[in-house]
Amino acid sequence: MNDAALDALAPMDTGARAGRLREQLAAAGCEALLVTKLVNIRYLTGFTGSAALLVVLPDELVFVSDGRYGEQAATQLPAAGVEARIEISGTGQQELVTAAVAGVGRLGLEADAVTWAAQRKYAAEWFPEVELVATEGLVDGLRQVKDEGEVARIEAAAAVADAALASVGRRLLDGPTERDFGLELDTEIRRLGATATSFETIVAAGPNGAMPHHRPGDRRIVEGDLVVLDFGALVDGYCSDMTRTLVLGEPTATQARMLEVVATSQAAGVAAVAPGVACRDVDASCRDVLVDAGWGEAFLHGTGHGVGLEIHEAPRVAASSDATLAAGHVVTVEPGVYLPEHGGVRVEDTVVVTPEGCRALTRAPKDPVLR
Ligand code: ZN
Ligand code: ZN
Repeated sequence: MNDAALDALAPMDTGARAGRLREQLAAAGCEALLVTKLVNIRYLTGFTGSAALLVVLPDELVFVSDGRYGEQAATQLPAAGVEARIEISGTGQQELVTAAVAGVGRLGLEADAVTWAAQRKYAAEWFPEVELVATEGLVDGLRQVKDEGEVARIEAAAAVADAALASVGRRLLDGPTERDFGLELDTEIRRLGATATSFETIVAAGPNGAMPHHRPGDRRIVEGDLVVLDFGALVDGYCSDMTRTLVLGEPTATQARMLEVVATSQAAGVAAVAPGVACRDVDASCRDVLVDAGWGEAFLHGTGHGVGLEIHEAPRVAASSDATLAAGHVVTVEPGVYLPEHGGVRVEDTVVVTPEGCRALTRAPKDPVLR
C-alpha cells in the first residue's frame, strides 16, 4: 500500500458523520456533545493527531488542539470534507471549549472515555453552570456500520495480512522461535505497506497454543507442533484481524480432529452471519459444533468482535451479547479449541455483513498442513 494505492480506495463519508451523530443527541438527553475519545474524533473529522477535543454543537463543530497540530488539522479536516471551526491553543483550551458551549444547557460527555478525575474537573472548573450528561456509545454506535471507504480500508489491511502470511509462512519449517517468526511476520506486514500491525502478533506453538493470547517467546517451533498465528495489519487507521492454525508435518489423530472440528465450527459461524441475526446466534452456531464434539468447555472465549478503527469494537459476537448484526458491520468469527496437552486451534476471518449475508475480507487459504 503506497500513497497512490491508498488514494485509489473508495472515499469515506467522514463529512456526513457529525450530522448522523446530532440526530442521536436529543434521545441521549443532551443538546451538544464533548467528544474526548481520540479515535472518535478521528472518525468524525479525519484528524489523525494525538491530542484534540471536539465539541459537537447543533449547528457547528468546534475542533480544539494544540500548536503541534494546527497545520495538520487545517489540512486534514477539509480534506475529509469536514466543516469545523478549528481553534489552536496550548494553554487556553478550557476557555475555548467553555466559550463554545455557552448557551448549552445539557452537555453530553463520553462516559466510557472520561476518567473520574476528568469528570470532576469538567464539573467543577470547566462547566460549573452546565448540566453534564453521561452518554454511552453514541459515536461508537455509529462506527459499527462501516461506509464503503471504511470497508475498502479494512479489506486492504486484510489483504496485506494474507499476503504477509503467504510470503513468510513456510519459514515455520526452518525451526524459528515463536519470537523470531513473529518478527518476520510483523516485518513483512510493514514491508507490504501497512502502517503497523493492528495489535501484538500472537505466535503460539505446541502447548503454548492452549493459551489463547500467548505472547511469542523463545520456544522453538518444531515438527509436530500446532502453531496458532493471530495477527493483523493497520491501513489508514483501519485494522484487520485473522488467525490461522498450522500443523508442521502429519497431524496426530487428535490434532486432525481439532483442526476439522474448529474448521467446521468457523464455517458454521460465517454461514450464520447476516443482517438481522442476533450476535448470540452466531456465537451459538460456532459453539454448538464444539459442544457436539465434546469440546464446549475447551472454547475459552466469545466467537468474535467488531473491527474497525479499533481492533476490538462493537458489536461483540458472544453468548452474552444483545447486539444484532446489520449490513455494514465488520466482525470476526474466531472459534477455538484449547487443550493443555495438545495445544490450541483457532481459525479467524474478518467478514463484512452484506444485505444478503456476509463477505469474507480475510481470504488466506485454510489448509492447515505445512510440510
Ligand atoms: Zn485475532
Ligand atoms: Zn479477533
